Amino acid sequence: MSATPQEAAAALRDGALILLPTETVYGLGADAGDPKAVAAIFEAKGRPRFNPLISHVADAAAAAQIAVFDAAAQALADAFWPGPLTLVGPVRDAARVCDLARAGLDSVAIRVPAHPMARAVLAAFDGPVVAPSANRSGRPSPTTFDDAVEETGFAVAAAVDGGPCRVGLESTVVSVLDGRVALLRPGAVTRAQIEAVVGPLADRGEGHRSPGRLTLHYAPDAPVRIEAATVRPDEVLLGFGPGVGEPRWSLSPTGDLGEAAVNLFRLLREADRTRPAGIAVSPIPATGLGEAINDRLRRAAGFVG
Ligand code: AMP
Ligand code: MG
Repeated sequence: MSATPQEAAAALRDGALILLPTETVYGLGADAGDPKAVAAIFEAKGRPRFNPLISHVADAAAAAQIAVFDAAAQALADAFWPGPLTLVGPVRDAARVCDLARAGLDSVAIRVPAHPMARAVLAAFDGPVVAPSANRSGRPSPTTFDDAVEETGFAVAAAVDGGPCRVGLESTVVSVLDGRVALLRPGAVTRAQIEAVVGPLADRGEGHRSPGRLTLHYAPDAPVRIEAATVRPDEVLLGFGPGVGEPRWSLSPTGDLGEAAVNLFRLLREADRTRPAGIAVSPIPATGLGEAINDRLRRAAGFVG
């Protein structure tokens, strides 16, 4: 049964974990200032402790209490919050987001989610909530309530059902440090949308700045084969575009990248449940949202870094 935002906020105050719906994917949430609760997230996910968490807050004013935002960060917050953009800036108040949540870094990742249920929980709790994707580490992110419950429901005191996630792909992570704006992880806000606000992005040599990018991610049990031109008899083909593969397994029959983002993790999970010898995925254009979709697929297929 679904918890109310008030019940979820009460669970956070008790130091317990929650399932939190956001527009990107379902999150496993905890009070960012409570090291024991944050430790329970790493434990439940099996997440390496060097991989820092994103803090979710109700609005840009709450974000500005936690991080130092320069003019570029402010412009990005104005343009994309609430929404699927995470900003990494120098930490201002290290007590509000504990050391473990930041993996000991002197920077902090913050996002203002747009999902009305997430906003209701954050308003009721009135403090930063760390909420990595609710999957066990390395697996595809949950984009439905049932998938979130299946992954980490065992660890939570309150699970909020917010329906299927509207975006289906994690936030774009951008660092704004030392006067440089860099893309740390492609995501639901496209590179072009960000560059329209702050100009050309740096995206090389910043890997060390985003420790979570160093591990295998988003992978179902079956091996994933990307940019597949043909399909083997014992594989499921996730198609893209008109007439490619079975309609049931199509990421988007019309070749729409937004639709493919919504379907990506759900179909990887559903395909995996049929226990195929492998999951083949049609080529996806690299433009717009395709950059993030291809990023997730490359990692699901075992390419790291
Ligand atoms: P996830 O919670 O799985 O969506 O991943 C969060 C992403 O944000 C990971 O790629 C982290 O490495 C990245 N991240 C979180 N905090 C920081 C930070 N302080 N500096 C750089 N990257 C961060
Ligand atoms: Mg994740």
